[in-house]
Amino acid sequence: MTPEHARPVSGSDLAALITALRHAGFQGEIETDRALRSAMSTDNSVYQITPDLIVAPRDSADVVQVLATLARPDFAAFALTARGGGTGTNGQSLNRGVILDMRRHMTRLLEVNVGEAWAEVEPGIVLDDLNAQLRPHGLFFAPEASTSTRCTLGGMVSTDASGKGSRVYGKTSDNVLGLEIARPEGLLSSLGQTPSWARDMLARTEAAVRAGRDAFIANTPRLNRRFTGYDLERACPTEGAFDWWRLFLGAEGTLGPITRIRVALRRIEAEKRLLVVAFDSFRNALAAATPLLAVDPTAVEVMDETVQAIAAQAGALAGLPTALKAHEGQRVAYSFIEFNGNDGLDLQDRLMACRALLAQLPGVRAIHEARDLAEIRTLWAIRSAGVGLLGKVEGDARPVAFVEDCVVPPEVLPAFVDDFLAVLSQHGLGFGIYGHVDVGCLHIRPALNIDRTEDRAKLVAVSDAVFALTRKYGGIFWGEHGKGVRGAYLRDWIGPEAYAALQGVKAAFDPAGRFNPGKLVGPRQDMLGIAETPFRAFNAPQGDPLTRAFRCNGNAQCLSYAAAVPMCPSFKATADLRQSPKGRADALRDWHGQRAAGRVEAGLEADLFKTLDGCLGCKACASACPVQVDIPTMRSAFLADYHARHPRPLADRLTLLAERHSPRVVALSGLLAPFWPLAVRLGQALTGTVDLPKTLTPRPEPGLLLTEAELDGRALPATTILLLQDWFTALFDAPAIRDAVAGLRALGYAPRLLPLRPAGKAALTLGDQRGFGRMAEALLRQLTRAADCGLPMIGLDPALVLLLRQDYPKAGLHPPDVFLPQEFLAAELEHGRVFPKASVGGQARLLLHCTESTAHPEAGAQWRRVFTALGVTLDTPATGCCGMAGLFGHQNRHQPVSRKLFDMTWRSQVAGAGPVAATGFSCRCQSERLAGQELRHPLGLIAAMVRPTPLQDG
Ligand SMILES: Cc1cc2nc3c(=O)[nH]c(=O)nc-3n(C[C@H](O)[C@H](O)[C@H](O)COP(=O)(O)OP(=O)(O)OC[C@H]3O[C@@H](n4cnc5c(N)ncnc54)[C@H](O)[C@@H]3O)c2cc1C
Ligand code: SF4
Ligand code: SF4
Repeated sequence: MTPEHARPVSGSDLAALITALRHAGFQGEIETDRALRSAMSTDNSVYQITPDLIVAPRDSADVVQVLATLARPDFAAFALTARGGGTGTNGQSLNRGVILDMRRHMTRLLEVNVGEAWAEVEPGIVLDDLNAQLRPHGLFFAPEASTSTRCTLGGMVSTDASGKGSRVYGKTSDNVLGLEIARPEGLLSSLGQTPSWARDMLARTEAAVRAGRDAFIANTPRLNRRFTGYDLERACPTEGAFDWWRLFLGAEGTLGPITRIRVALRRIEAEKRLLVVAFDSFRNALAAATPLLAVDPTAVEVMDETVQAIAAQAGALAGLPTALKAHEGQRVAYSFIEFNGNDGLDLQDRLMACRALLAQLPGVRAIHEARDLAEIRTLWAIRSAGVGLLGKVEGDARPVAFVEDCVVPPEVLPAFVDDFLAVLSQHGLGFGIYGHVDVGCLHIRPALNIDRTEDRAKLVAVSDAVFALTRKYGGIFWGEHGKGVRGAYLRDWIGPEAYAALQGVKAAFDPAGRFNPGKLVGPRQDMLGIAETPFRAFNAPQGDPLTRAFRCNGNAQCLSYAAAVPMCPSFKATADLRQSPKGRADALRDWHGQRAAGRVEAGLEADLFKTLDGCLGCKACASACPVQVDIPTMRSAFLADYHARHPRPLADRLTLLAERHSPRVVALSGLLAPFWPLAVRLGQALTGTVDLPKTLTPRPEPGLLLTEAELDGRALPATTILLLQDWFTALFDAPAIRDAVAGLRALGYAPRLLPLRPAGKAALTLGDQRGFGRMAEALLRQLTRAADCGLPMIGLDPALVLLLRQDYPKAGLHPPDVFLPQEFLAAELEHGRVFPKASVGGQARLLLHCTESTAHPEAGAQWRRVFTALGVTLDTPATGCCGMAGLFGHQNRHQPVSRKLFDMTWRSQVAGAGPVAATGFSCRCQSERLAGQELRHPLGLIAAMVRPTPLQDG
């Protein structure tokens, strides 16, 4: 019989549940938004299940309210699944019914006990956030999943996550001291008194555990990456004791929501060393794993030749020392060997022993030793980037997760890998491999095109074969990432007797099978299997403008919690998944499917429109996402389609007009200036904006603007630099133009302004693709003529230069080189140019435009080189987005997000002592309006710090 919670939910059920939740006093958000439901329908797996309702509790009392409401018989149709970072690789957090979004609000570090080295947290706290807060206490939570920037403690506990260093530090389950869970009756904590309502439930659980414990132990291999998810063995550690909470470790939400976690902490070790070893083959890197254990490393990880090649192509290996890099045509595999400790001498001995051992091993090409913490972090980031980069592979078949975390005893790893690869070759599948060889855990992702029936059949065949291989080699099929829909293998793996005990545990906590149904434990016919779970659409038709939405593989790199990481500002300000590149890509993909089928749900289109409106267009996702998902470009395609069917709002039309006619406004600025304040007031009222620039830039000084005649070939002096303006700078940023001119003159150049031709950025953003095309072609003609002068061109604003580099080629337009100022100046230094020394000030700070810091990661280093040449120490601190992003920060509806973003990283940097500059016009505007600080263009700082040299020409 189909369980009650599996019947489809009706609109009236949903409305009644929402009303009931509100009446019950639920404080968080209750959402049916279609874009959010799309965002919650995927993870890093190949599956998709769209939930009916999302609730984001504010605290554990809210979670109890949800459970108590759902316990009413009229809501028996609803399943309930908790979700953390949504980084599961096998559909762990996907389900129908209600999704409990723990990541949005339940993110607090509740208590730290430094003396006893433990902390209590809410389950939605992100691992890196926790460790950043613990660092001042000299403590850390040791299990280190490579998704540490976005995975939550609740998710880690529920999947028993682990990673680098687990041989020494153990898995998450080895580092948890107790839990609080929510029940309809209230909260149940393993660290407090057991309430009377819970006693019977726990007694039934204990009976089930004891009945199956022996069979469970007999069927689980004795490995470091032990089996969890109803761990019957450790739930009864000694005669008489019963640690019920241990059953929740690895239970993937199938026993109910966890609301509080007490974790054991470790003292941060003072010393750290990392050896990166280049091997001539992955086989040799793998074979080194067991011998290396003799020198007691904290972690040994590997990266195969395929991942190395992809990483090299993506530029991710730039940080590696030259000796480690592959030469032309060479294949290289890497081993990363880390040693941690408090005793420097002991560490040195282990390191020496390791080097001696490596000298004996075959295939070692080069060894690099890193001692500096920053370098160690950079090198590990290269290894962590591996999995995301696998998704970067072009083509319809791409590496996917389904057999990606098998564990076998390290000594049989090479033989296991040979058999595994034989299975893949039998099916003609490509793959990439990396992983934690010290504990025998390898990540292998075969490349499939999930849209093809044959490839879906291969997914099942390979899964079955690899499951059998892990049994043959005494290993575990799901050694790191949890089970998800692979839980369908659990019965065969653990045997009928132990499985019956697992069912007893499930029945005690979840008699109606409503918590994350279909996963891990349940009647066979109700399980979501690897072939039965709905697959997500994998490829768009050839050449489709939304192709990148299909490439998004849900690795969630864009959901980083860290304020100073540029991607993604709208998600960081809201912690709302639909306001992330991943969420937007999911909604776009769903919309695309419906549009192609000719029946678009009005709700989906309207909600997608809203979520795209929340995108700042910062373009971080066009550079920092492993598949360069590029939401602004897809938004443009969506809006073009949408506005072909719906009229544009007045605000859009006025913006498009303003951009198109900006050269006329510049030409008439003298005449218009007195009326400008009135025009601004009117414009703000009509377009729903605030704080628009209050003054118009006056006409440039005589002789600065290049004339048409000069563009037509009059020989200009060799020191001339052509300055390209965008329409915002030309209309409103007189100080930046003055700064740029003065700075370049101070360095001995003769800057000249190119007459303004708008680049079409606003048109592109708003999906006016015809308008964009017209403006872009006009600018391209100007740039091509200017390039014929043979003089360098510099763009005044990074957003403009990057538009030319990123977006013009996508439209089939290929402008000549336009440099960022620092690019040009750093290259000049390299070619031997000598700049005058600064006569004032020894230190300055420069805040980079976020689009620039993601699309051009060398920006900070180049500016530092330029300022060093002047004798000035320049600090370029990491900041996220300032919150302005063109018009976004001026729009009334975006004020809360815009202001919050400024407060997150910019306010403190802007307020610091010493001279501060910012490269972006938007950032300077935002700093002025929200902090009252007028930041300079960096060339202005140069002008102020260097005694101006006499002009060499006109
Ligand atoms: C690129 C990539 C690399 C990865 N690398 C690693 C790695 O190095 N090591 C590793 O262990 N894993 C890794 N994973 C897998 C994944 O990151 C981990 O499983 C992680 O612990 C999941 O955490 P999350 O917050 O994203 O949880 P989610 O994916 O949101 O949820 C995971 C499960 O936990 C349940 N859950 C979440 N919160 C709660 C709660 N409060 N109460 C009850 N149940 C809850 C969910 O229902 C779900 O079943 C990787 C994944 C990706 C995409
Ligand atoms: S948008 Fe990019 S970073 Fe975000 S989940 Fe998709 S692929 Fe990963
Ligand atoms: S452009 Fe920026 S704000 Fe928009 S989705 Fe990408 S990272 Fe987020």
